[in-house]
Amino acid sequence: MSTLNNTELAVQWFDGVHPVARAATIRLEGRHLTLQPADGTAAQDYPATRLRWPEPLRHAQRQLLLPDGGVLACGDAQAFDAWLTGSGRSHGVIARWQQSTALAFLTLALLVGVLFAGWRWGVPVAADTTVRFLPEAVDERVGQQVLRELDSHWLRPSRLTWAQRRAVFDHFADAVDTALDRRALPRLTHFDLQFRQGGGPFGANALALPGGTIIVTDELVELLQDQPQALVGVLGHELGHLKHRHGMRLTLRASAAGLATGALIGDFSIALATAPAMLAQRSYSREFEREADDYARTLLRGAGIDPAVMVGFFERLQQQRGTDEHSAQGAFAAAFSSHPADEERKAFFKK
Ligand SMILES: [Zn+2]
Repeated sequence: MSTLNNTELAVQWFDGVHPVARAATIRLEGRHLTLQPADGTAAQDYPATRLRWPEPLRHAQRQLLLPDGGVLACGDAQAFDAWLTGSGRSHGVIARWQQSTALAFLTLALLVGVLFAGWRWGVPVAADTTVRFLPEAVDERVGQQVLRELDSHWLRPSRLTWAQRRAVFDHFADAVDTALDRRALPRLTHFDLQFRQGGGPFGANALALPGGTIIVTDELVELLQDQPQALVGVLGHELGHLKHRHGMRLTLRASAAGLATGALIGDFSIALATAPAMLAQRSYSREFEREADDYARTLLRGAGIDPAVMVGFFERLQQQRGTDEHSAQGAFAAAFSSHPADEERKAFFKK
């Protein structure tokens, strides 16, 4: 048994059906393993991620398990190792793959893709493309980290009574249900309402975190106490951000390099640690805000609420800004109140 060149390896192939081994050569290219039987029958192609690599023992025969139940055996461990190295792999890398979950591997591959694509086509496009393939569990992890950071540094526990929280939740959930029943919304976007005291940096605000958490401040609930339908609109806007995964797209755009580095070294803590500050400092683009407003308007209409209720909200917010410049600006640009221009948005909801 010997290597034909650096990237091809002669092996014995047990196809999992016939008891007799057949001679074959294998080649590992990119994410595929190609198996070429020596008898000239059709070559087989396997995704590298679905291969199983039993722990290599120094003097033992090397084996590779195929996803279809087949086994590749190589009696020449040295040749096998040389082939792996020649294919740009090493046992170290493979051992690490084995330890990581399929999710982590997928994330790694995608985020390395972001780094490459970011260099090739620009980060925003790459980030938006990547997020479509990114498992939502990653959003949740980022969102949980952001919430922990916000809770430990900026937000305080809500002072609202459970009855007040319940009323806000029920009102919003009823509107979403009605819109879903009438098929105004295609499908339910997962959300979880969290109430917090906003204080100086937040004021009256709502904020959607990647993964489905919507933070509502006590100040916002109080501001719209007599306008529950406007509050539905504001929460609908945040649900729109979740539906379009704006938080995750923003996170990826801003920290694609950090995340890709994290993926390479198998540790996302650096990227996760910077996510809260990043979400706080960067504002959503107007494009994102329009998409979220559009979703809110669709939801309101679907729930039988006149979208013009939002105009009252913008006016009240403007009044508040007039009297309290500090809380109006707020440190958290990503939150609801900052953009785009109120006049433009008023016109949008009146349409
Ligand atoms: Zn927004």
